[in-house]
Amino acid sequence: MGTLYLVATPIGNLEDITLRALRILREVSLIAAEDTRTTRILLDHHSITTPTTSYHEHNKGGREGALLQALERGDVALVSDAGSPGISDPGFELVNAALAAGHTVSPVPGPSAVIAAVSASGLPTDQFVFVGFAPRRAGALADWVAQLRTETRTTVLYEAPHRIGETVAALAAAFPSRGLCLARELTKRFETFWRGRCDEAVAHLQAHPPRGEFVVVLAGAVTGVSEVWEEARVHAELRERLARGVSGRDAAAQVAALSGWSRRDVTREIDRVKYSAAIYPRSES
Ligand code: SAM
Repeated sequence: MGTLYLVATPIGNLEDITLRALRILREVSLIAAEDTRTTRILLDHHSITTPTTSYHEHNKGGREGALLQALERGDVALVSDAGSPGISDPGFELVNAALAAGHTVSPVPGPSAVIAAVSASGLPTDQFVFVGFAPRRAGALADWVAQLRTETRTTVLYEAPHRIGETVAALAAAFPSRGLCLARELTKRFETFWRGRCDEAVAHLQAHPPRGEFVVVLAGAVTGVSEVWEEARVHAELRERLARGVSGRDAAAQVAALSGWSRRDVTREIDRVKYSAAIYPRSES
């Protein structure tokens, strides 16, 4: 029986790799890598000649059998392009398959963007939740943000540069005054941290078009202080959803989840919004 090592690799700075990680990568009989070319750069940098094979999102099902066979013969290391395997990266299924086949699974800890970002964010670190990537579709994004309304723990998410404006705008629409940290290009030459309120973050991203990799760290909801929206805000959010073609029922449910208003009260406002929109199309902004 072999051991499947989950080896963390740098998220930017090539020096961020542990001595143990280098030894394991040298000693295993095979390295399963998300992108063998990316991993080869790291291995060459440290003169490691262990054979590699690819294991990524699109071939992971097909590769599992071969990797389990390799584990019968010796130890295997799993690495992703950056950071800790399995954390918003392939790994979970292979870990399960290896455990089911009776192999040992052992982590070789090191960099992970989530830990690097939350630790330096300045937001509470005693408890936090990691929620991965935000959904792409507007409706799903609104529902997802709504679920964070009552989350009192610091919340950490990953985001791609071309999506971050939209995701931060959705957070700002729901929680304008909450603290937010944008951790960019961690451990790299242009590492920056922007810290402020969600509504200010929208303006910041407009003024500084996002480039590079980001982790978003959102302050939790403050216990005992309810974020109840003003009526004008409820109307504006309803109007925006109705204009997008969201049904009245769904719009009411989404706004109720975000606003601190009951669904019944929001539903009652829908007629007022529709009426005022028909007669005074631009009366409220
Ligand atoms: N497994 C990785 C880890 O442990 O951090 C995460 C992989 S996930 C596919 C890639 C996302 O992680 C990026 O879109 C970004 O949100 C975040 N990320 C990775 N490296 C980063 C860095 N150097 N600076 C900021 N964010 C980073």
